[in-house]
Amino acid sequence: MLLPGSLQAGQLATLGVMGGGQLGRMFVQAAQAMGYFTAVLDPDPASPAGLISHYHIQTDYLDQSGLAQLTQRCAAITTEFENVPAGALQTLGAHRLVAPGADAVRIAQDRVSEKAHFVRCGVACAPYAVIDSAGALAAVEAALLPGILKTARMGYDGKGQIRVATRAELQLAWDELSQVTCVLEKMLPLKAECSVIVARGRDGVMVNLPVQRNQHRDGILAVTEVFDGVLPAALAAQAVDATRAIAEELQYVGVLCVEFFVLDDDALVVNEIAPRPHNSGHYSLHACDQSQFDLQVRTLAGLPLNQPRQHSPAIMLNLLGDLWLKRGSEPVTPPWDAVLALPGTHLNLYGKLLASRGRKMGHLTVTGATLEQVRATAAQAARLLGMAPL
Ligand code: ATP
Ligand code: MG
Repeated sequence: MLLPGSLQAGQLATLGVMGGGQLGRMFVQAAQAMGYFTAVLDPDPASPAGLISHYHIQTDYLDQSGLAQLTQRCAAITTEFENVPAGALQTLGAHRLVAPGADAVRIAQDRVSEKAHFVRCGVACAPYAVIDSAGALAAVEAALLPGILKTARMGYDGKGQIRVATRAELQLAWDELSQVTCVLEKMLPLKAECSVIVARGRDGVMVNLPVQRNQHRDGILAVTEVFDGVLPAALAAQAVDATRAIAEELQYVGVLCVEFFVLDDDALVVNEIAPRPHNSGHYSLHACDQSQFDLQVRTLAGLPLNQPRQHSPAIMLNLLGDLWLKRGSEPVTPPWDAVLALPGTHLNLYGKLLASRGRKMGHLTVTGATLEQVRATAAQAARLLGMAPL
């Protein structure tokens, strides 16, 4: 166990994170609040987490000297970004506690091994085929169309995905994706999307946040709602059980998010896993007694875990760069004064210096005494920001 505030080789115990994006930033904030020193490895000098960390190692993720510096500084190391090479985590893991481990991250990084893991866990996923050769493409069953062709690796926020209705479109799409290994998933009739976040310690103790209901726009998370009854209780329980089974089977240590689809007939289908805190869990910073980042710190440091409690209904709005680019070519600052005048609004901006379309700049969480209040305030905030109605 790495107690907060303990001295290690003459300095305060330091926690490290691979990747300096907004998830890393919120991890750093949670770790610092508990008295840890922090180190971030990210090549970008202006990375959101690097800007606020005690140490910022600005090298590539596979740079041996960068990894050695991180090892030297830190007692334990986590990751915030799915595409951090699993090999880098393996190198770090030879010297320090690393959570999640390279094996779990490797599975989550590849849709082919990820889906094989779902099958192992007995959790249903969308019907799919692996497309890794012209022969595999030709052999695709008609029942998988219309479908979505997704690159097996390196996709996020809907990138590396093409929707296809016919075989001819499938061929063109695979060409467009440079014929890298892909999965073709059947397009499912979605009634809703949801996700569950669990934290599992090295001792196998596991806790979870409540089920989160998510709305995506253009393949990017737009809104997360979390309150009692957001989904029928049986469905919510099924999603929690499936998430726990997926984490258990991986012998996972750390924070894990599992995304699900709810189909028109109320069947629950797993979509994908993220081996880290998740955008859909940001509401926990303000609506729960422990946030997903607190849980990440606890699992990494080997501190005790207890079941988090949500103390307020919550709606989270993702704040994309588009909000800064409403008028003309000059970016404008959104009307935070009017938004923050609404009761129960919590603004979190990630310190990014450049806004671009689809870029996650921050999020706004609305909490309140009642769901009606939260809904009314969130709708008003969305109006003030010129966002699509909830
Ligand atoms: P992220 O990493 O941001 O969660 P991603 O790029 O990994 O996203 P997915 O989660 O695979 O992408 O898909 C993004 C969105 O596209 C889903 O949340 C869902 O709205 C839609 N989608 C993906 N697969 C399917 C499917 N098989 N049927 C219907 N809709 C789908
Ligand atoms: Mg997704």
